[in-house]
Amino acid sequence: MKQKYYYQDAYQKNANTTIISQAQEESGRWYITLQETIFYPTGGGQPHDTGLINGVQVTDVEEVDGEIRHYIGERSTLETGESVGIEIDWTRRFDFMQQHAGQHILTASFVELLGIQTVSFHLGKEHVTIDVDASKISNEQLGKVEKLANQIILENRLIETKWVTKDELAQYPLRKQVSVDEDIRLVIIPDFDYNGCGGTHPSSTGQIGALKILDTEKQKGKVRVHFVCGGRVITQLHRKHTVLQEMKSQLSASEEGLAEAARTVVDNGKKMEKTIEELREQLMGYEVKEILGELTQGNVSIERVFQQRSIQELQKLARLLVAESPKCKVIFIAENEGLLQFVLASGAENDTNMKQLASQIFPLINGKGGGSASFAQGGGTKNQSGQELVEKIHQLMV
Ligand SMILES: [Zn+2]
Repeated sequence: MKQKYYYQDAYQKNANTTIISQAQEESGRWYITLQETIFYPTGGGQPHDTGLINGVQVTDVEEVDGEIRHYIGERSTLETGESVGIEIDWTRRFDFMQQHAGQHILTASFVELLGIQTVSFHLGKEHVTIDVDASKISNEQLGKVEKLANQIILENRLIETKWVTKDELAQYPLRKQVSVDEDIRLVIIPDFDYNGCGGTHPSSTGQIGALKILDTEKQKGKVRVHFVCGGRVITQLHRKHTVLQEMKSQLSASEEGLAEAARTVVDNGKKMEKTIEELREQLMGYEVKEILGELTQGNVSIERVFQQRSIQELQKLARLLVAESPKCKVIFIAENEGLLQFVLASGAENDTNMKQLASQIFPLINGKGGGSASFAQGGGTKNQSGQELVEKIHQLMV
């Protein structure tokens, strides 16, 4: 027996019908088929409905070989031939109806104003997207398209559905070729959009409420347009408003002054980074003086173990030291997050070969690195303390 589908009568939220069968797919999923159904199965870019069959939760609905399968969590006690009440989750369905019908209007607006076709549509959890056949769309064009779409919504035009034969199709200015030969269903917004579609729509455009384009992105040579309709516009407004309020409070700025205030914060941050960099250089100058001041008479070997200090900073410090005191050699070890790193430098009047010394250190810490005879660095695992490594390096230099 062929099932009767009522899901396209958009405002039917519940109905009474009869169980035809309860069966299990090879994958193990249980499903119920019904004599008539109001559940919409996934298709045409619109997600499936959810709801209840006599209190049993329907989590997914798919059309398989002309049969509408209502998937349930596990086998139910419902029996073939039993009369049941069915009910769909109306909040979910009405949201889909708003987004889906909004897509019809947005797509038609792109054609009407810019002659640009829509090539695909996706109804996501938060956003809806269409990919339009253009490589670029300006903000001005988007503004015009959005304005027309909202005008059509505001005019509260009827959305009609009509079953037609293939021969009758020629009477309508269809937006694109219809892909089926029989059971052709046209969705018509008079003088605006004529479209073959099996999805669910409200009965007039006003029920879409509003349409807001949120963003665009390039997608495989097309432009992907993100938008929301109806209740989702309020959700977005609420979310953005919350962010704005928080930013206004953080930056002590009015809404109009936010961009300027944010720019000032970023600029100040950059200035401060520059100042910190200059102060660091000055501080390093003092550190050089202090280290050299601590050297005892005749001692030319500077050895230090540091914690959590970047190798770049230590390289700089080592260079400054040997430039200031060319007789010196420098051995710096840094204990950094499970790593032992080192910097070796010899001044112009010190003939210790640091490249060679480094190659002898690598095996001690399973490390690697490189450099020249006067300057080398490297790092490996922290398999001993920095001080222990310094002592081993001493023995290497004996
Ligand atoms: Zn549709």
